[in-house]
Amino acid sequence: MESSRSEFAFELRTCRWAERNWPPDGSTEHTAFVARQLGTKRRRWDTLVLECDPDALYERANFGPDRLEGDLLHVVRNAPADWAYYRDVLPHPGYPWRYVREAIHRADERGVLETRRDGNRIQIRRKWAYPDWLERIVAIENKPDLDASAARSLGRQLEYDVATGLADEVWVATRKTGERVEPVLLEDLPIEAGVLALEPDALVGEVEWYPRTLPVEEPGTRILERPEGDGRDASAARFEYVDSEEKREKRLEIAERAYERGWRSFVETMRPDCRHFELRAVDGSQLTPHCRAKNQTQTAAECSSTCPHVEPEPPTWRTKGWPIEGGPGKRCRQLLEKRRRRRRPGL
Ligand code: SF4
Repeated sequence: MESSRSEFAFELRTCRWAERNWPPDGSTEHTAFVARQLGTKRRRWDTLVLECDPDALYERANFGPDRLEGDLLHVVRNAPADWAYYRDVLPHPGYPWRYVREAIHRADERGVLETRRDGNRIQIRRKWAYPDWLERIVAIENKPDLDASAARSLGRQLEYDVATGLADEVWVATRKTGERVEPVLLEDLPIEAGVLALEPDALVGEVEWYPRTLPVEEPGTRILERPEGDGRDASAARFEYVDSEEKREKRLEIAERAYERGWRSFVETMRPDCRHFELRAVDGSQLTPHCRAKNQTQTAAECSSTCPHVEPEPPTWRTKGWPIEGGPGKRCRQLLEKRRRRRRPGL
């Protein structure tokens, strides 16, 4: 448990480092936006850095802070500038039209699409063009203490990422040891993956190995199964082809979820209403969760209703301004939400 706890704390520090320092080469043409624990059904990354076009990111705010899911994206990205019957202007989605109609109604309710009736026909018109805000996705795996077995499973995860090519770059962030050659460089990891050595307390990162850019526009390969065990296992690996269009859609869906969530959303899977929960400023600004009962940073898995020390905050804590303002738990959420919004210009 200790290592997963420190991994969680390290992950939050990586997010903060990326928020302040991305990209490592110091260029300023993109805006970087950071999220955590996102990916696909088969693969979830610890930290995601989205490099965005600054103007387009600003325009994305027109569509509100919540994500647009695949069916909504299909509608808003293809909606015309002038009124038209939806079936005449939307490409066939590959699933029944009735789901498209439902998506049109939801988009209308969210205020991101205009609709009207012409007899039995639903016509649509866009409110804003959906901007091309996502430029690159950078995925980072956090492994503060990389022992041999962690390196083996990390190697497999990175091979999967390189073969699929869903992210433009994949990285490993590890704790800086200060040795002449960082031990992570001696592990058998794919050479396409970048390596970042991070001092989490000082929040200083050093690039030990630059990654290769992966071909996100080209079809990828999903590794489904591979031979297990030692070198005598001659069974075949199983792969699946991933076409470019599927990758394009998946990338945008991931980006939309990142836009909604950011990386400070850890509080949503914890118990900020527990009397022992607090947010502590690590370097004078970054707020990270802290448990007074355990006297350390708790993980999301620990900080749940099944925690043996959980105690709901007493009602008297809520009396100031309650129920409008809520108790400290609610204030923690508001504080983090405010910081999350600050990273999404235009909201
Ligand atoms: S006591 Fe348990 S539930 Fe309460 S803050 Fe600590 S870890 Fe979370």
